[in-house]
Amino acid sequence: MGLIPGPVVREAVIENQLPPIVDQSPLHMEQEKTSIAKTGRERSGSPAGVPEARRAVPPGAAPGPSPDDPVAFPPAGRVAGAASLGELEAGICGCLACPLGGGRVRFVFGEGDPSAGMMFIGEGPGRDEDLTGRPFVGKAGELLDRMLGAIGLQRGQVYIANIVKCRPPDNRTPTGPEAQRCLPYLKRQIELIRPKVIVTLGATPLRELLGVQAGITRIRGQWQRLDMLGGIPVMPTFHPAYVLRQYTQEVRRAVWSDLVEARKWMDAPPQT
Ligand code: URA
Repeated sequence: MGLIPGPVVREAVIENQLPPIVDQSPLHMEQEKTSIAKTGRERSGSPAGVPEARRAVPPGAAPGPSPDDPVAFPPAGRVAGAASLGELEAGICGCLACPLGGGRVRFVFGEGDPSAGMMFIGEGPGRDEDLTGRPFVGKAGELLDRMLGAIGLQRGQVYIANIVKCRPPDNRTPTGPEAQRCLPYLKRQIELIRPKVIVTLGATPLRELLGVQAGITRIRGQWQRLDMLGGIPVMPTFHPAYVLRQYTQEVRRAVWSDLVEARKWMDAPPQT
């Protein structure tokens, strides 16, 4: 896919823009480092300070909701017919259609500019996201904000969402069925936002949204295409949690150059 260079990409050097968070971390962050190991979604068996009663479905509760319940099992027509992000969120935020729903504290719909030119897609909420209902607010989120800053963007200028909207237990990777059950929600978000470019973070969104099985280390930086809205360019890059773990110049440079390419595409005038 050819790229028309955009005018506004800041000539930042990523190692200046992404300070050594891990090195400068206060002690508690060092302790958290191992728990962020896989996805940046901080581990904790049960969210700190959140009584079990506040969970959507208390452990051991039975029976589950009926598949005829339109709150717990949002009908496809309601998803496809949602005319705005707000309407979509209202229509799906009670979802209990996969096992993740019963374990959540908060539904993490996504946030940002509803008509953003660039959309970021991660894997799924972690503890902080589950507690706040906002995507990427933990340590990986702090790094994502710095990554955005490195290409001259702020969080409110892009849209950030995840493959699944409820936190997987112990921050495991969502299963294929969980991801696929949630995917129509994300796809409707994409249809409503109509981003010019999508950046996928890590292997999970690449696999679940595009069906690309190749490892992220091999595929990052290579344009992919999402078959929606006439074809949306997708730039795969490393997940911020991986960057936190592998805080090397090589990894930071790779992410920066991926984001620069995505920004160029976002800024490029429409092709005629
Ligand atoms: N990791 C993700 O993939 N998504 C989040 O929202 C937070 C951490």
